[in-house]
Amino acid sequence: MMDRRNLLSGLAAVAAGWPVRSWAATPTRFRVESQRLALRHTWTTTMSSSTHRDVIYFLLSRGAHSGIGEGAPIARYGESADQAQKLSGEIGAVLNDGADLMQYRKIVGQLHQRIPGQWALKSALDIAIHDWVGQVLDVPLYKLLGLDPLATPLTTFSIGIDTPEVTRQKVKEAEAYPVLKIKVGLKTDEATIDAVRSVTKKPLRVDANEGWKSKDEAVEKINWLEKQGVAFVEQPLPAHMLEEMNYVRKRVHIPVIADEASLHPADIPKLAPYFDGVNMKLDKCGGILEALRMIEMAKALGLKTMLGCMVSSSVAITAAAHLSPLVDYADLDGNLLISNDPYVGVTVEAGKLILPSGPGLGLKPRAA
Ligand code: MG
Repeated sequence: MMDRRNLLSGLAAVAAGWPVRSWAATPTRFRVESQRLALRHTWTTTMSSSTHRDVIYFLLSRGAHSGIGEGAPIARYGESADQAQKLSGEIGAVLNDGADLMQYRKIVGQLHQRIPGQWALKSALDIAIHDWVGQVLDVPLYKLLGLDPLATPLTTFSIGIDTPEVTRQKVKEAEAYPVLKIKVGLKTDEATIDAVRSVTKKPLRVDANEGWKSKDEAVEKINWLEKQGVAFVEQPLPAHMLEEMNYVRKRVHIPVIADEASLHPADIPKLAPYFDGVNMKLDKCGGILEALRMIEMAKALGLKTMLGCMVSSSVAITAAAHLSPLVDYADLDGNLLISNDPYVGVTVEAGKLILPSGPGLGLKPRAA
């Protein structure tokens, strides 16, 4: 029999337009929301330039607990917030009232089978279910995964492509972060790095985002970057150019990390002969469980591991941060790049990721 609290929350859900799956069992309610995040600085990489980023939130509620997840749909992979909204029927078929959400591996597996593509949506779903399970068990996500919260790595702070003047300003604003990630991949690379080096001696990592188009250009740039104190380079060549990486790696001394080529678990063995490490993003692989698969596979193949992110709020970044004790490098700064984050979760102290200790993701609404 439904208790009064469930009845009231069910009525509130109907009033709010949430799909209520059933009145007979404890109802599972969910909705997909679109959220526009405002960037502090216009964000430019080799791929695009923008002042905002649209993400989706997946809100899930069952019984006294609710969970939230976030994903950033990527147009390159045919994803959009609109398409995610249209999949409520498919999601409801899996998240029905008979589904035992505590068996979250099975449930997430069913969602992956049922919904082709839409990795950002699947990531939002997977994160929300983990958040919910953590709250039901009253444990933070890192504990649910058996991880040491003190073993988080430093996160880099990313500097998007800009004029030398603005680049210098951004580097100064990033004073609190001990390691910077500099976006390159255009004709302006030398000017960008010169601008960075004119104001800081910090360790640098560089992300070319597939921007260099030939193996010789990549070799030349990487060797120049090494002399500027760059520790490693992400995705120097377009994702499909694998064989060329053999040529590049024989002629450079710093590690090269795959990113745009590293989307799903099955990509890892294909990349292993050509890269020193792999970057992984929840939005691209489809969530926490797939990311765990990628991390373990990469480690088994002797690759360095890195967790990256899209421009996102603290929901997605905190989810990834809970996994970060497993990886060598973190680039989890998407929430630091925006000005209207609705939540507080993971924080950064002297570059180190500090995990919240509350149950699930451990998020709190940001005070206005
Ligand atoms: Mg990258």
